[in-house]
Amino acid sequence: LKEPRHPLIAEIKPLTDEQATAVETVRVAMKDPSDPSPVFLLKGVTGSGKTEVYLELARDVLAQGKGVLFLVPEIALTHQLVSRVERGLGEKVAEWHSGLSDGKRRDVSAYLRSGKLRVVIGARSALFAPVQNLGLIIVDEEHDATFKQEDRVRYQARDLSVVRAKLEKVPLILGSATPSLESLERVREGKYRFIELKNRFSKQGLPELEMISLREEPLVEGIQAMITERTRERIQETLDRGEQVLVFLNRRGYAPFLLCEACGQVDECPNCSISLTFHIHPRSIKCHLCGYRADPPEECSKCHSIEIHPKGAGTESLEDDLPKLFAGVTIDRLDRDSVTSQKRLDEILTAFRDGRTQLLTGT
Ligand SMILES: [Zn+2]
Ligand SMILES: [Zn+2]
Repeated sequence: LKEPRHPLIAEIKPLTDEQATAVETVRVAMKDPSDPSPVFLLKGVTGSGKTEVYLELARDVLAQGKGVLFLVPEIALTHQLVSRVERGLGEKVAEWHSGLSDGKRRDVSAYLRSGKLRVVIGARSALFAPVQNLGLIIVDEEHDATFKQEDRVRYQARDLSVVRAKLEKVPLILGSATPSLESLERVREGKYRFIELKNRFSKQGLPELEMISLREEPLVEGIQAMITERTRERIQETLDRGEQVLVFLNRRGYAPFLLCEACGQVDECPNCSISLTFHIHPRSIKCHLCGYRADPPEECSKCHSIEIHPKGAGTESLEDDLPKLFAGVTIDRLDRDSVTSQKRLDEILTAFRDGRTQLLTGT
């Protein structure tokens, strides 16, 4: 780790009226000695500029000589976000995530303890980063499920951030476009204060959307997945620009069911009466509801025909199909079947973050 150099010059964007009101609400509450650790739920649609609000408040806190902890979901922790925060604050920030080597973590910790770095931006594990003289905690995408650490010690980083805020007597801001029910309930109980950004302040922050109908557009032939020619072109254009692509399909497995071509039979789960999903790795038929699992049948259970074929597509078949369409592209898959451990999850996310994975598919 290079010695952090200060200062950069903070790039301060003018706030909209709505953002300024949100900032003012927090500032007023921060001066109230009767509640040293107020919790705010900041609701704002994508593109409403929550980050500008975070940055403005973080600049206040830094100006008082205090530190800031900024938590985001693992997948949102990108170099783009880090450099945006660095530019917005005018100083180097420490990046903290589970992929950090022990050596690097030690270096970062030392810089934090000495006060050379005062801001941590990180995933859930960053909650325990040794920021000195902490002045503010921000949890962005507070509703996100990846804030729940599933392995080893179970903890909810959002709830623990409330605990750390109380202990250190600092304000906490929970931000989201779609707040969790738990947080909304705290607002209703009067424990959290509610701030809402209703307007999108720039079109720039919004992705361009294009709807492509599977019924009306020609499909790519010879593959299991339903991908239109136009979708294939859009993906290719993106890859050609050297950018990365995420392909979502809300269905795990190879195909949602096996169909007997002779009699139309589809095998169902003996417990749940829903169709059994066909998986290739390992070869099986599974119920996604109760976990029932069996070997795929050799013949139809009803008419004994051997003409039984997978129908439809899932993330497994997509992973098989995509290399046929985009030769030489590095493809990875992120779903419950491919993520067998925390380590594997970190590997997949790190490879994507570093740009080694060009195309990531998953649920
Ligand atoms: Zn049959
Ligand atoms: Zn079942």
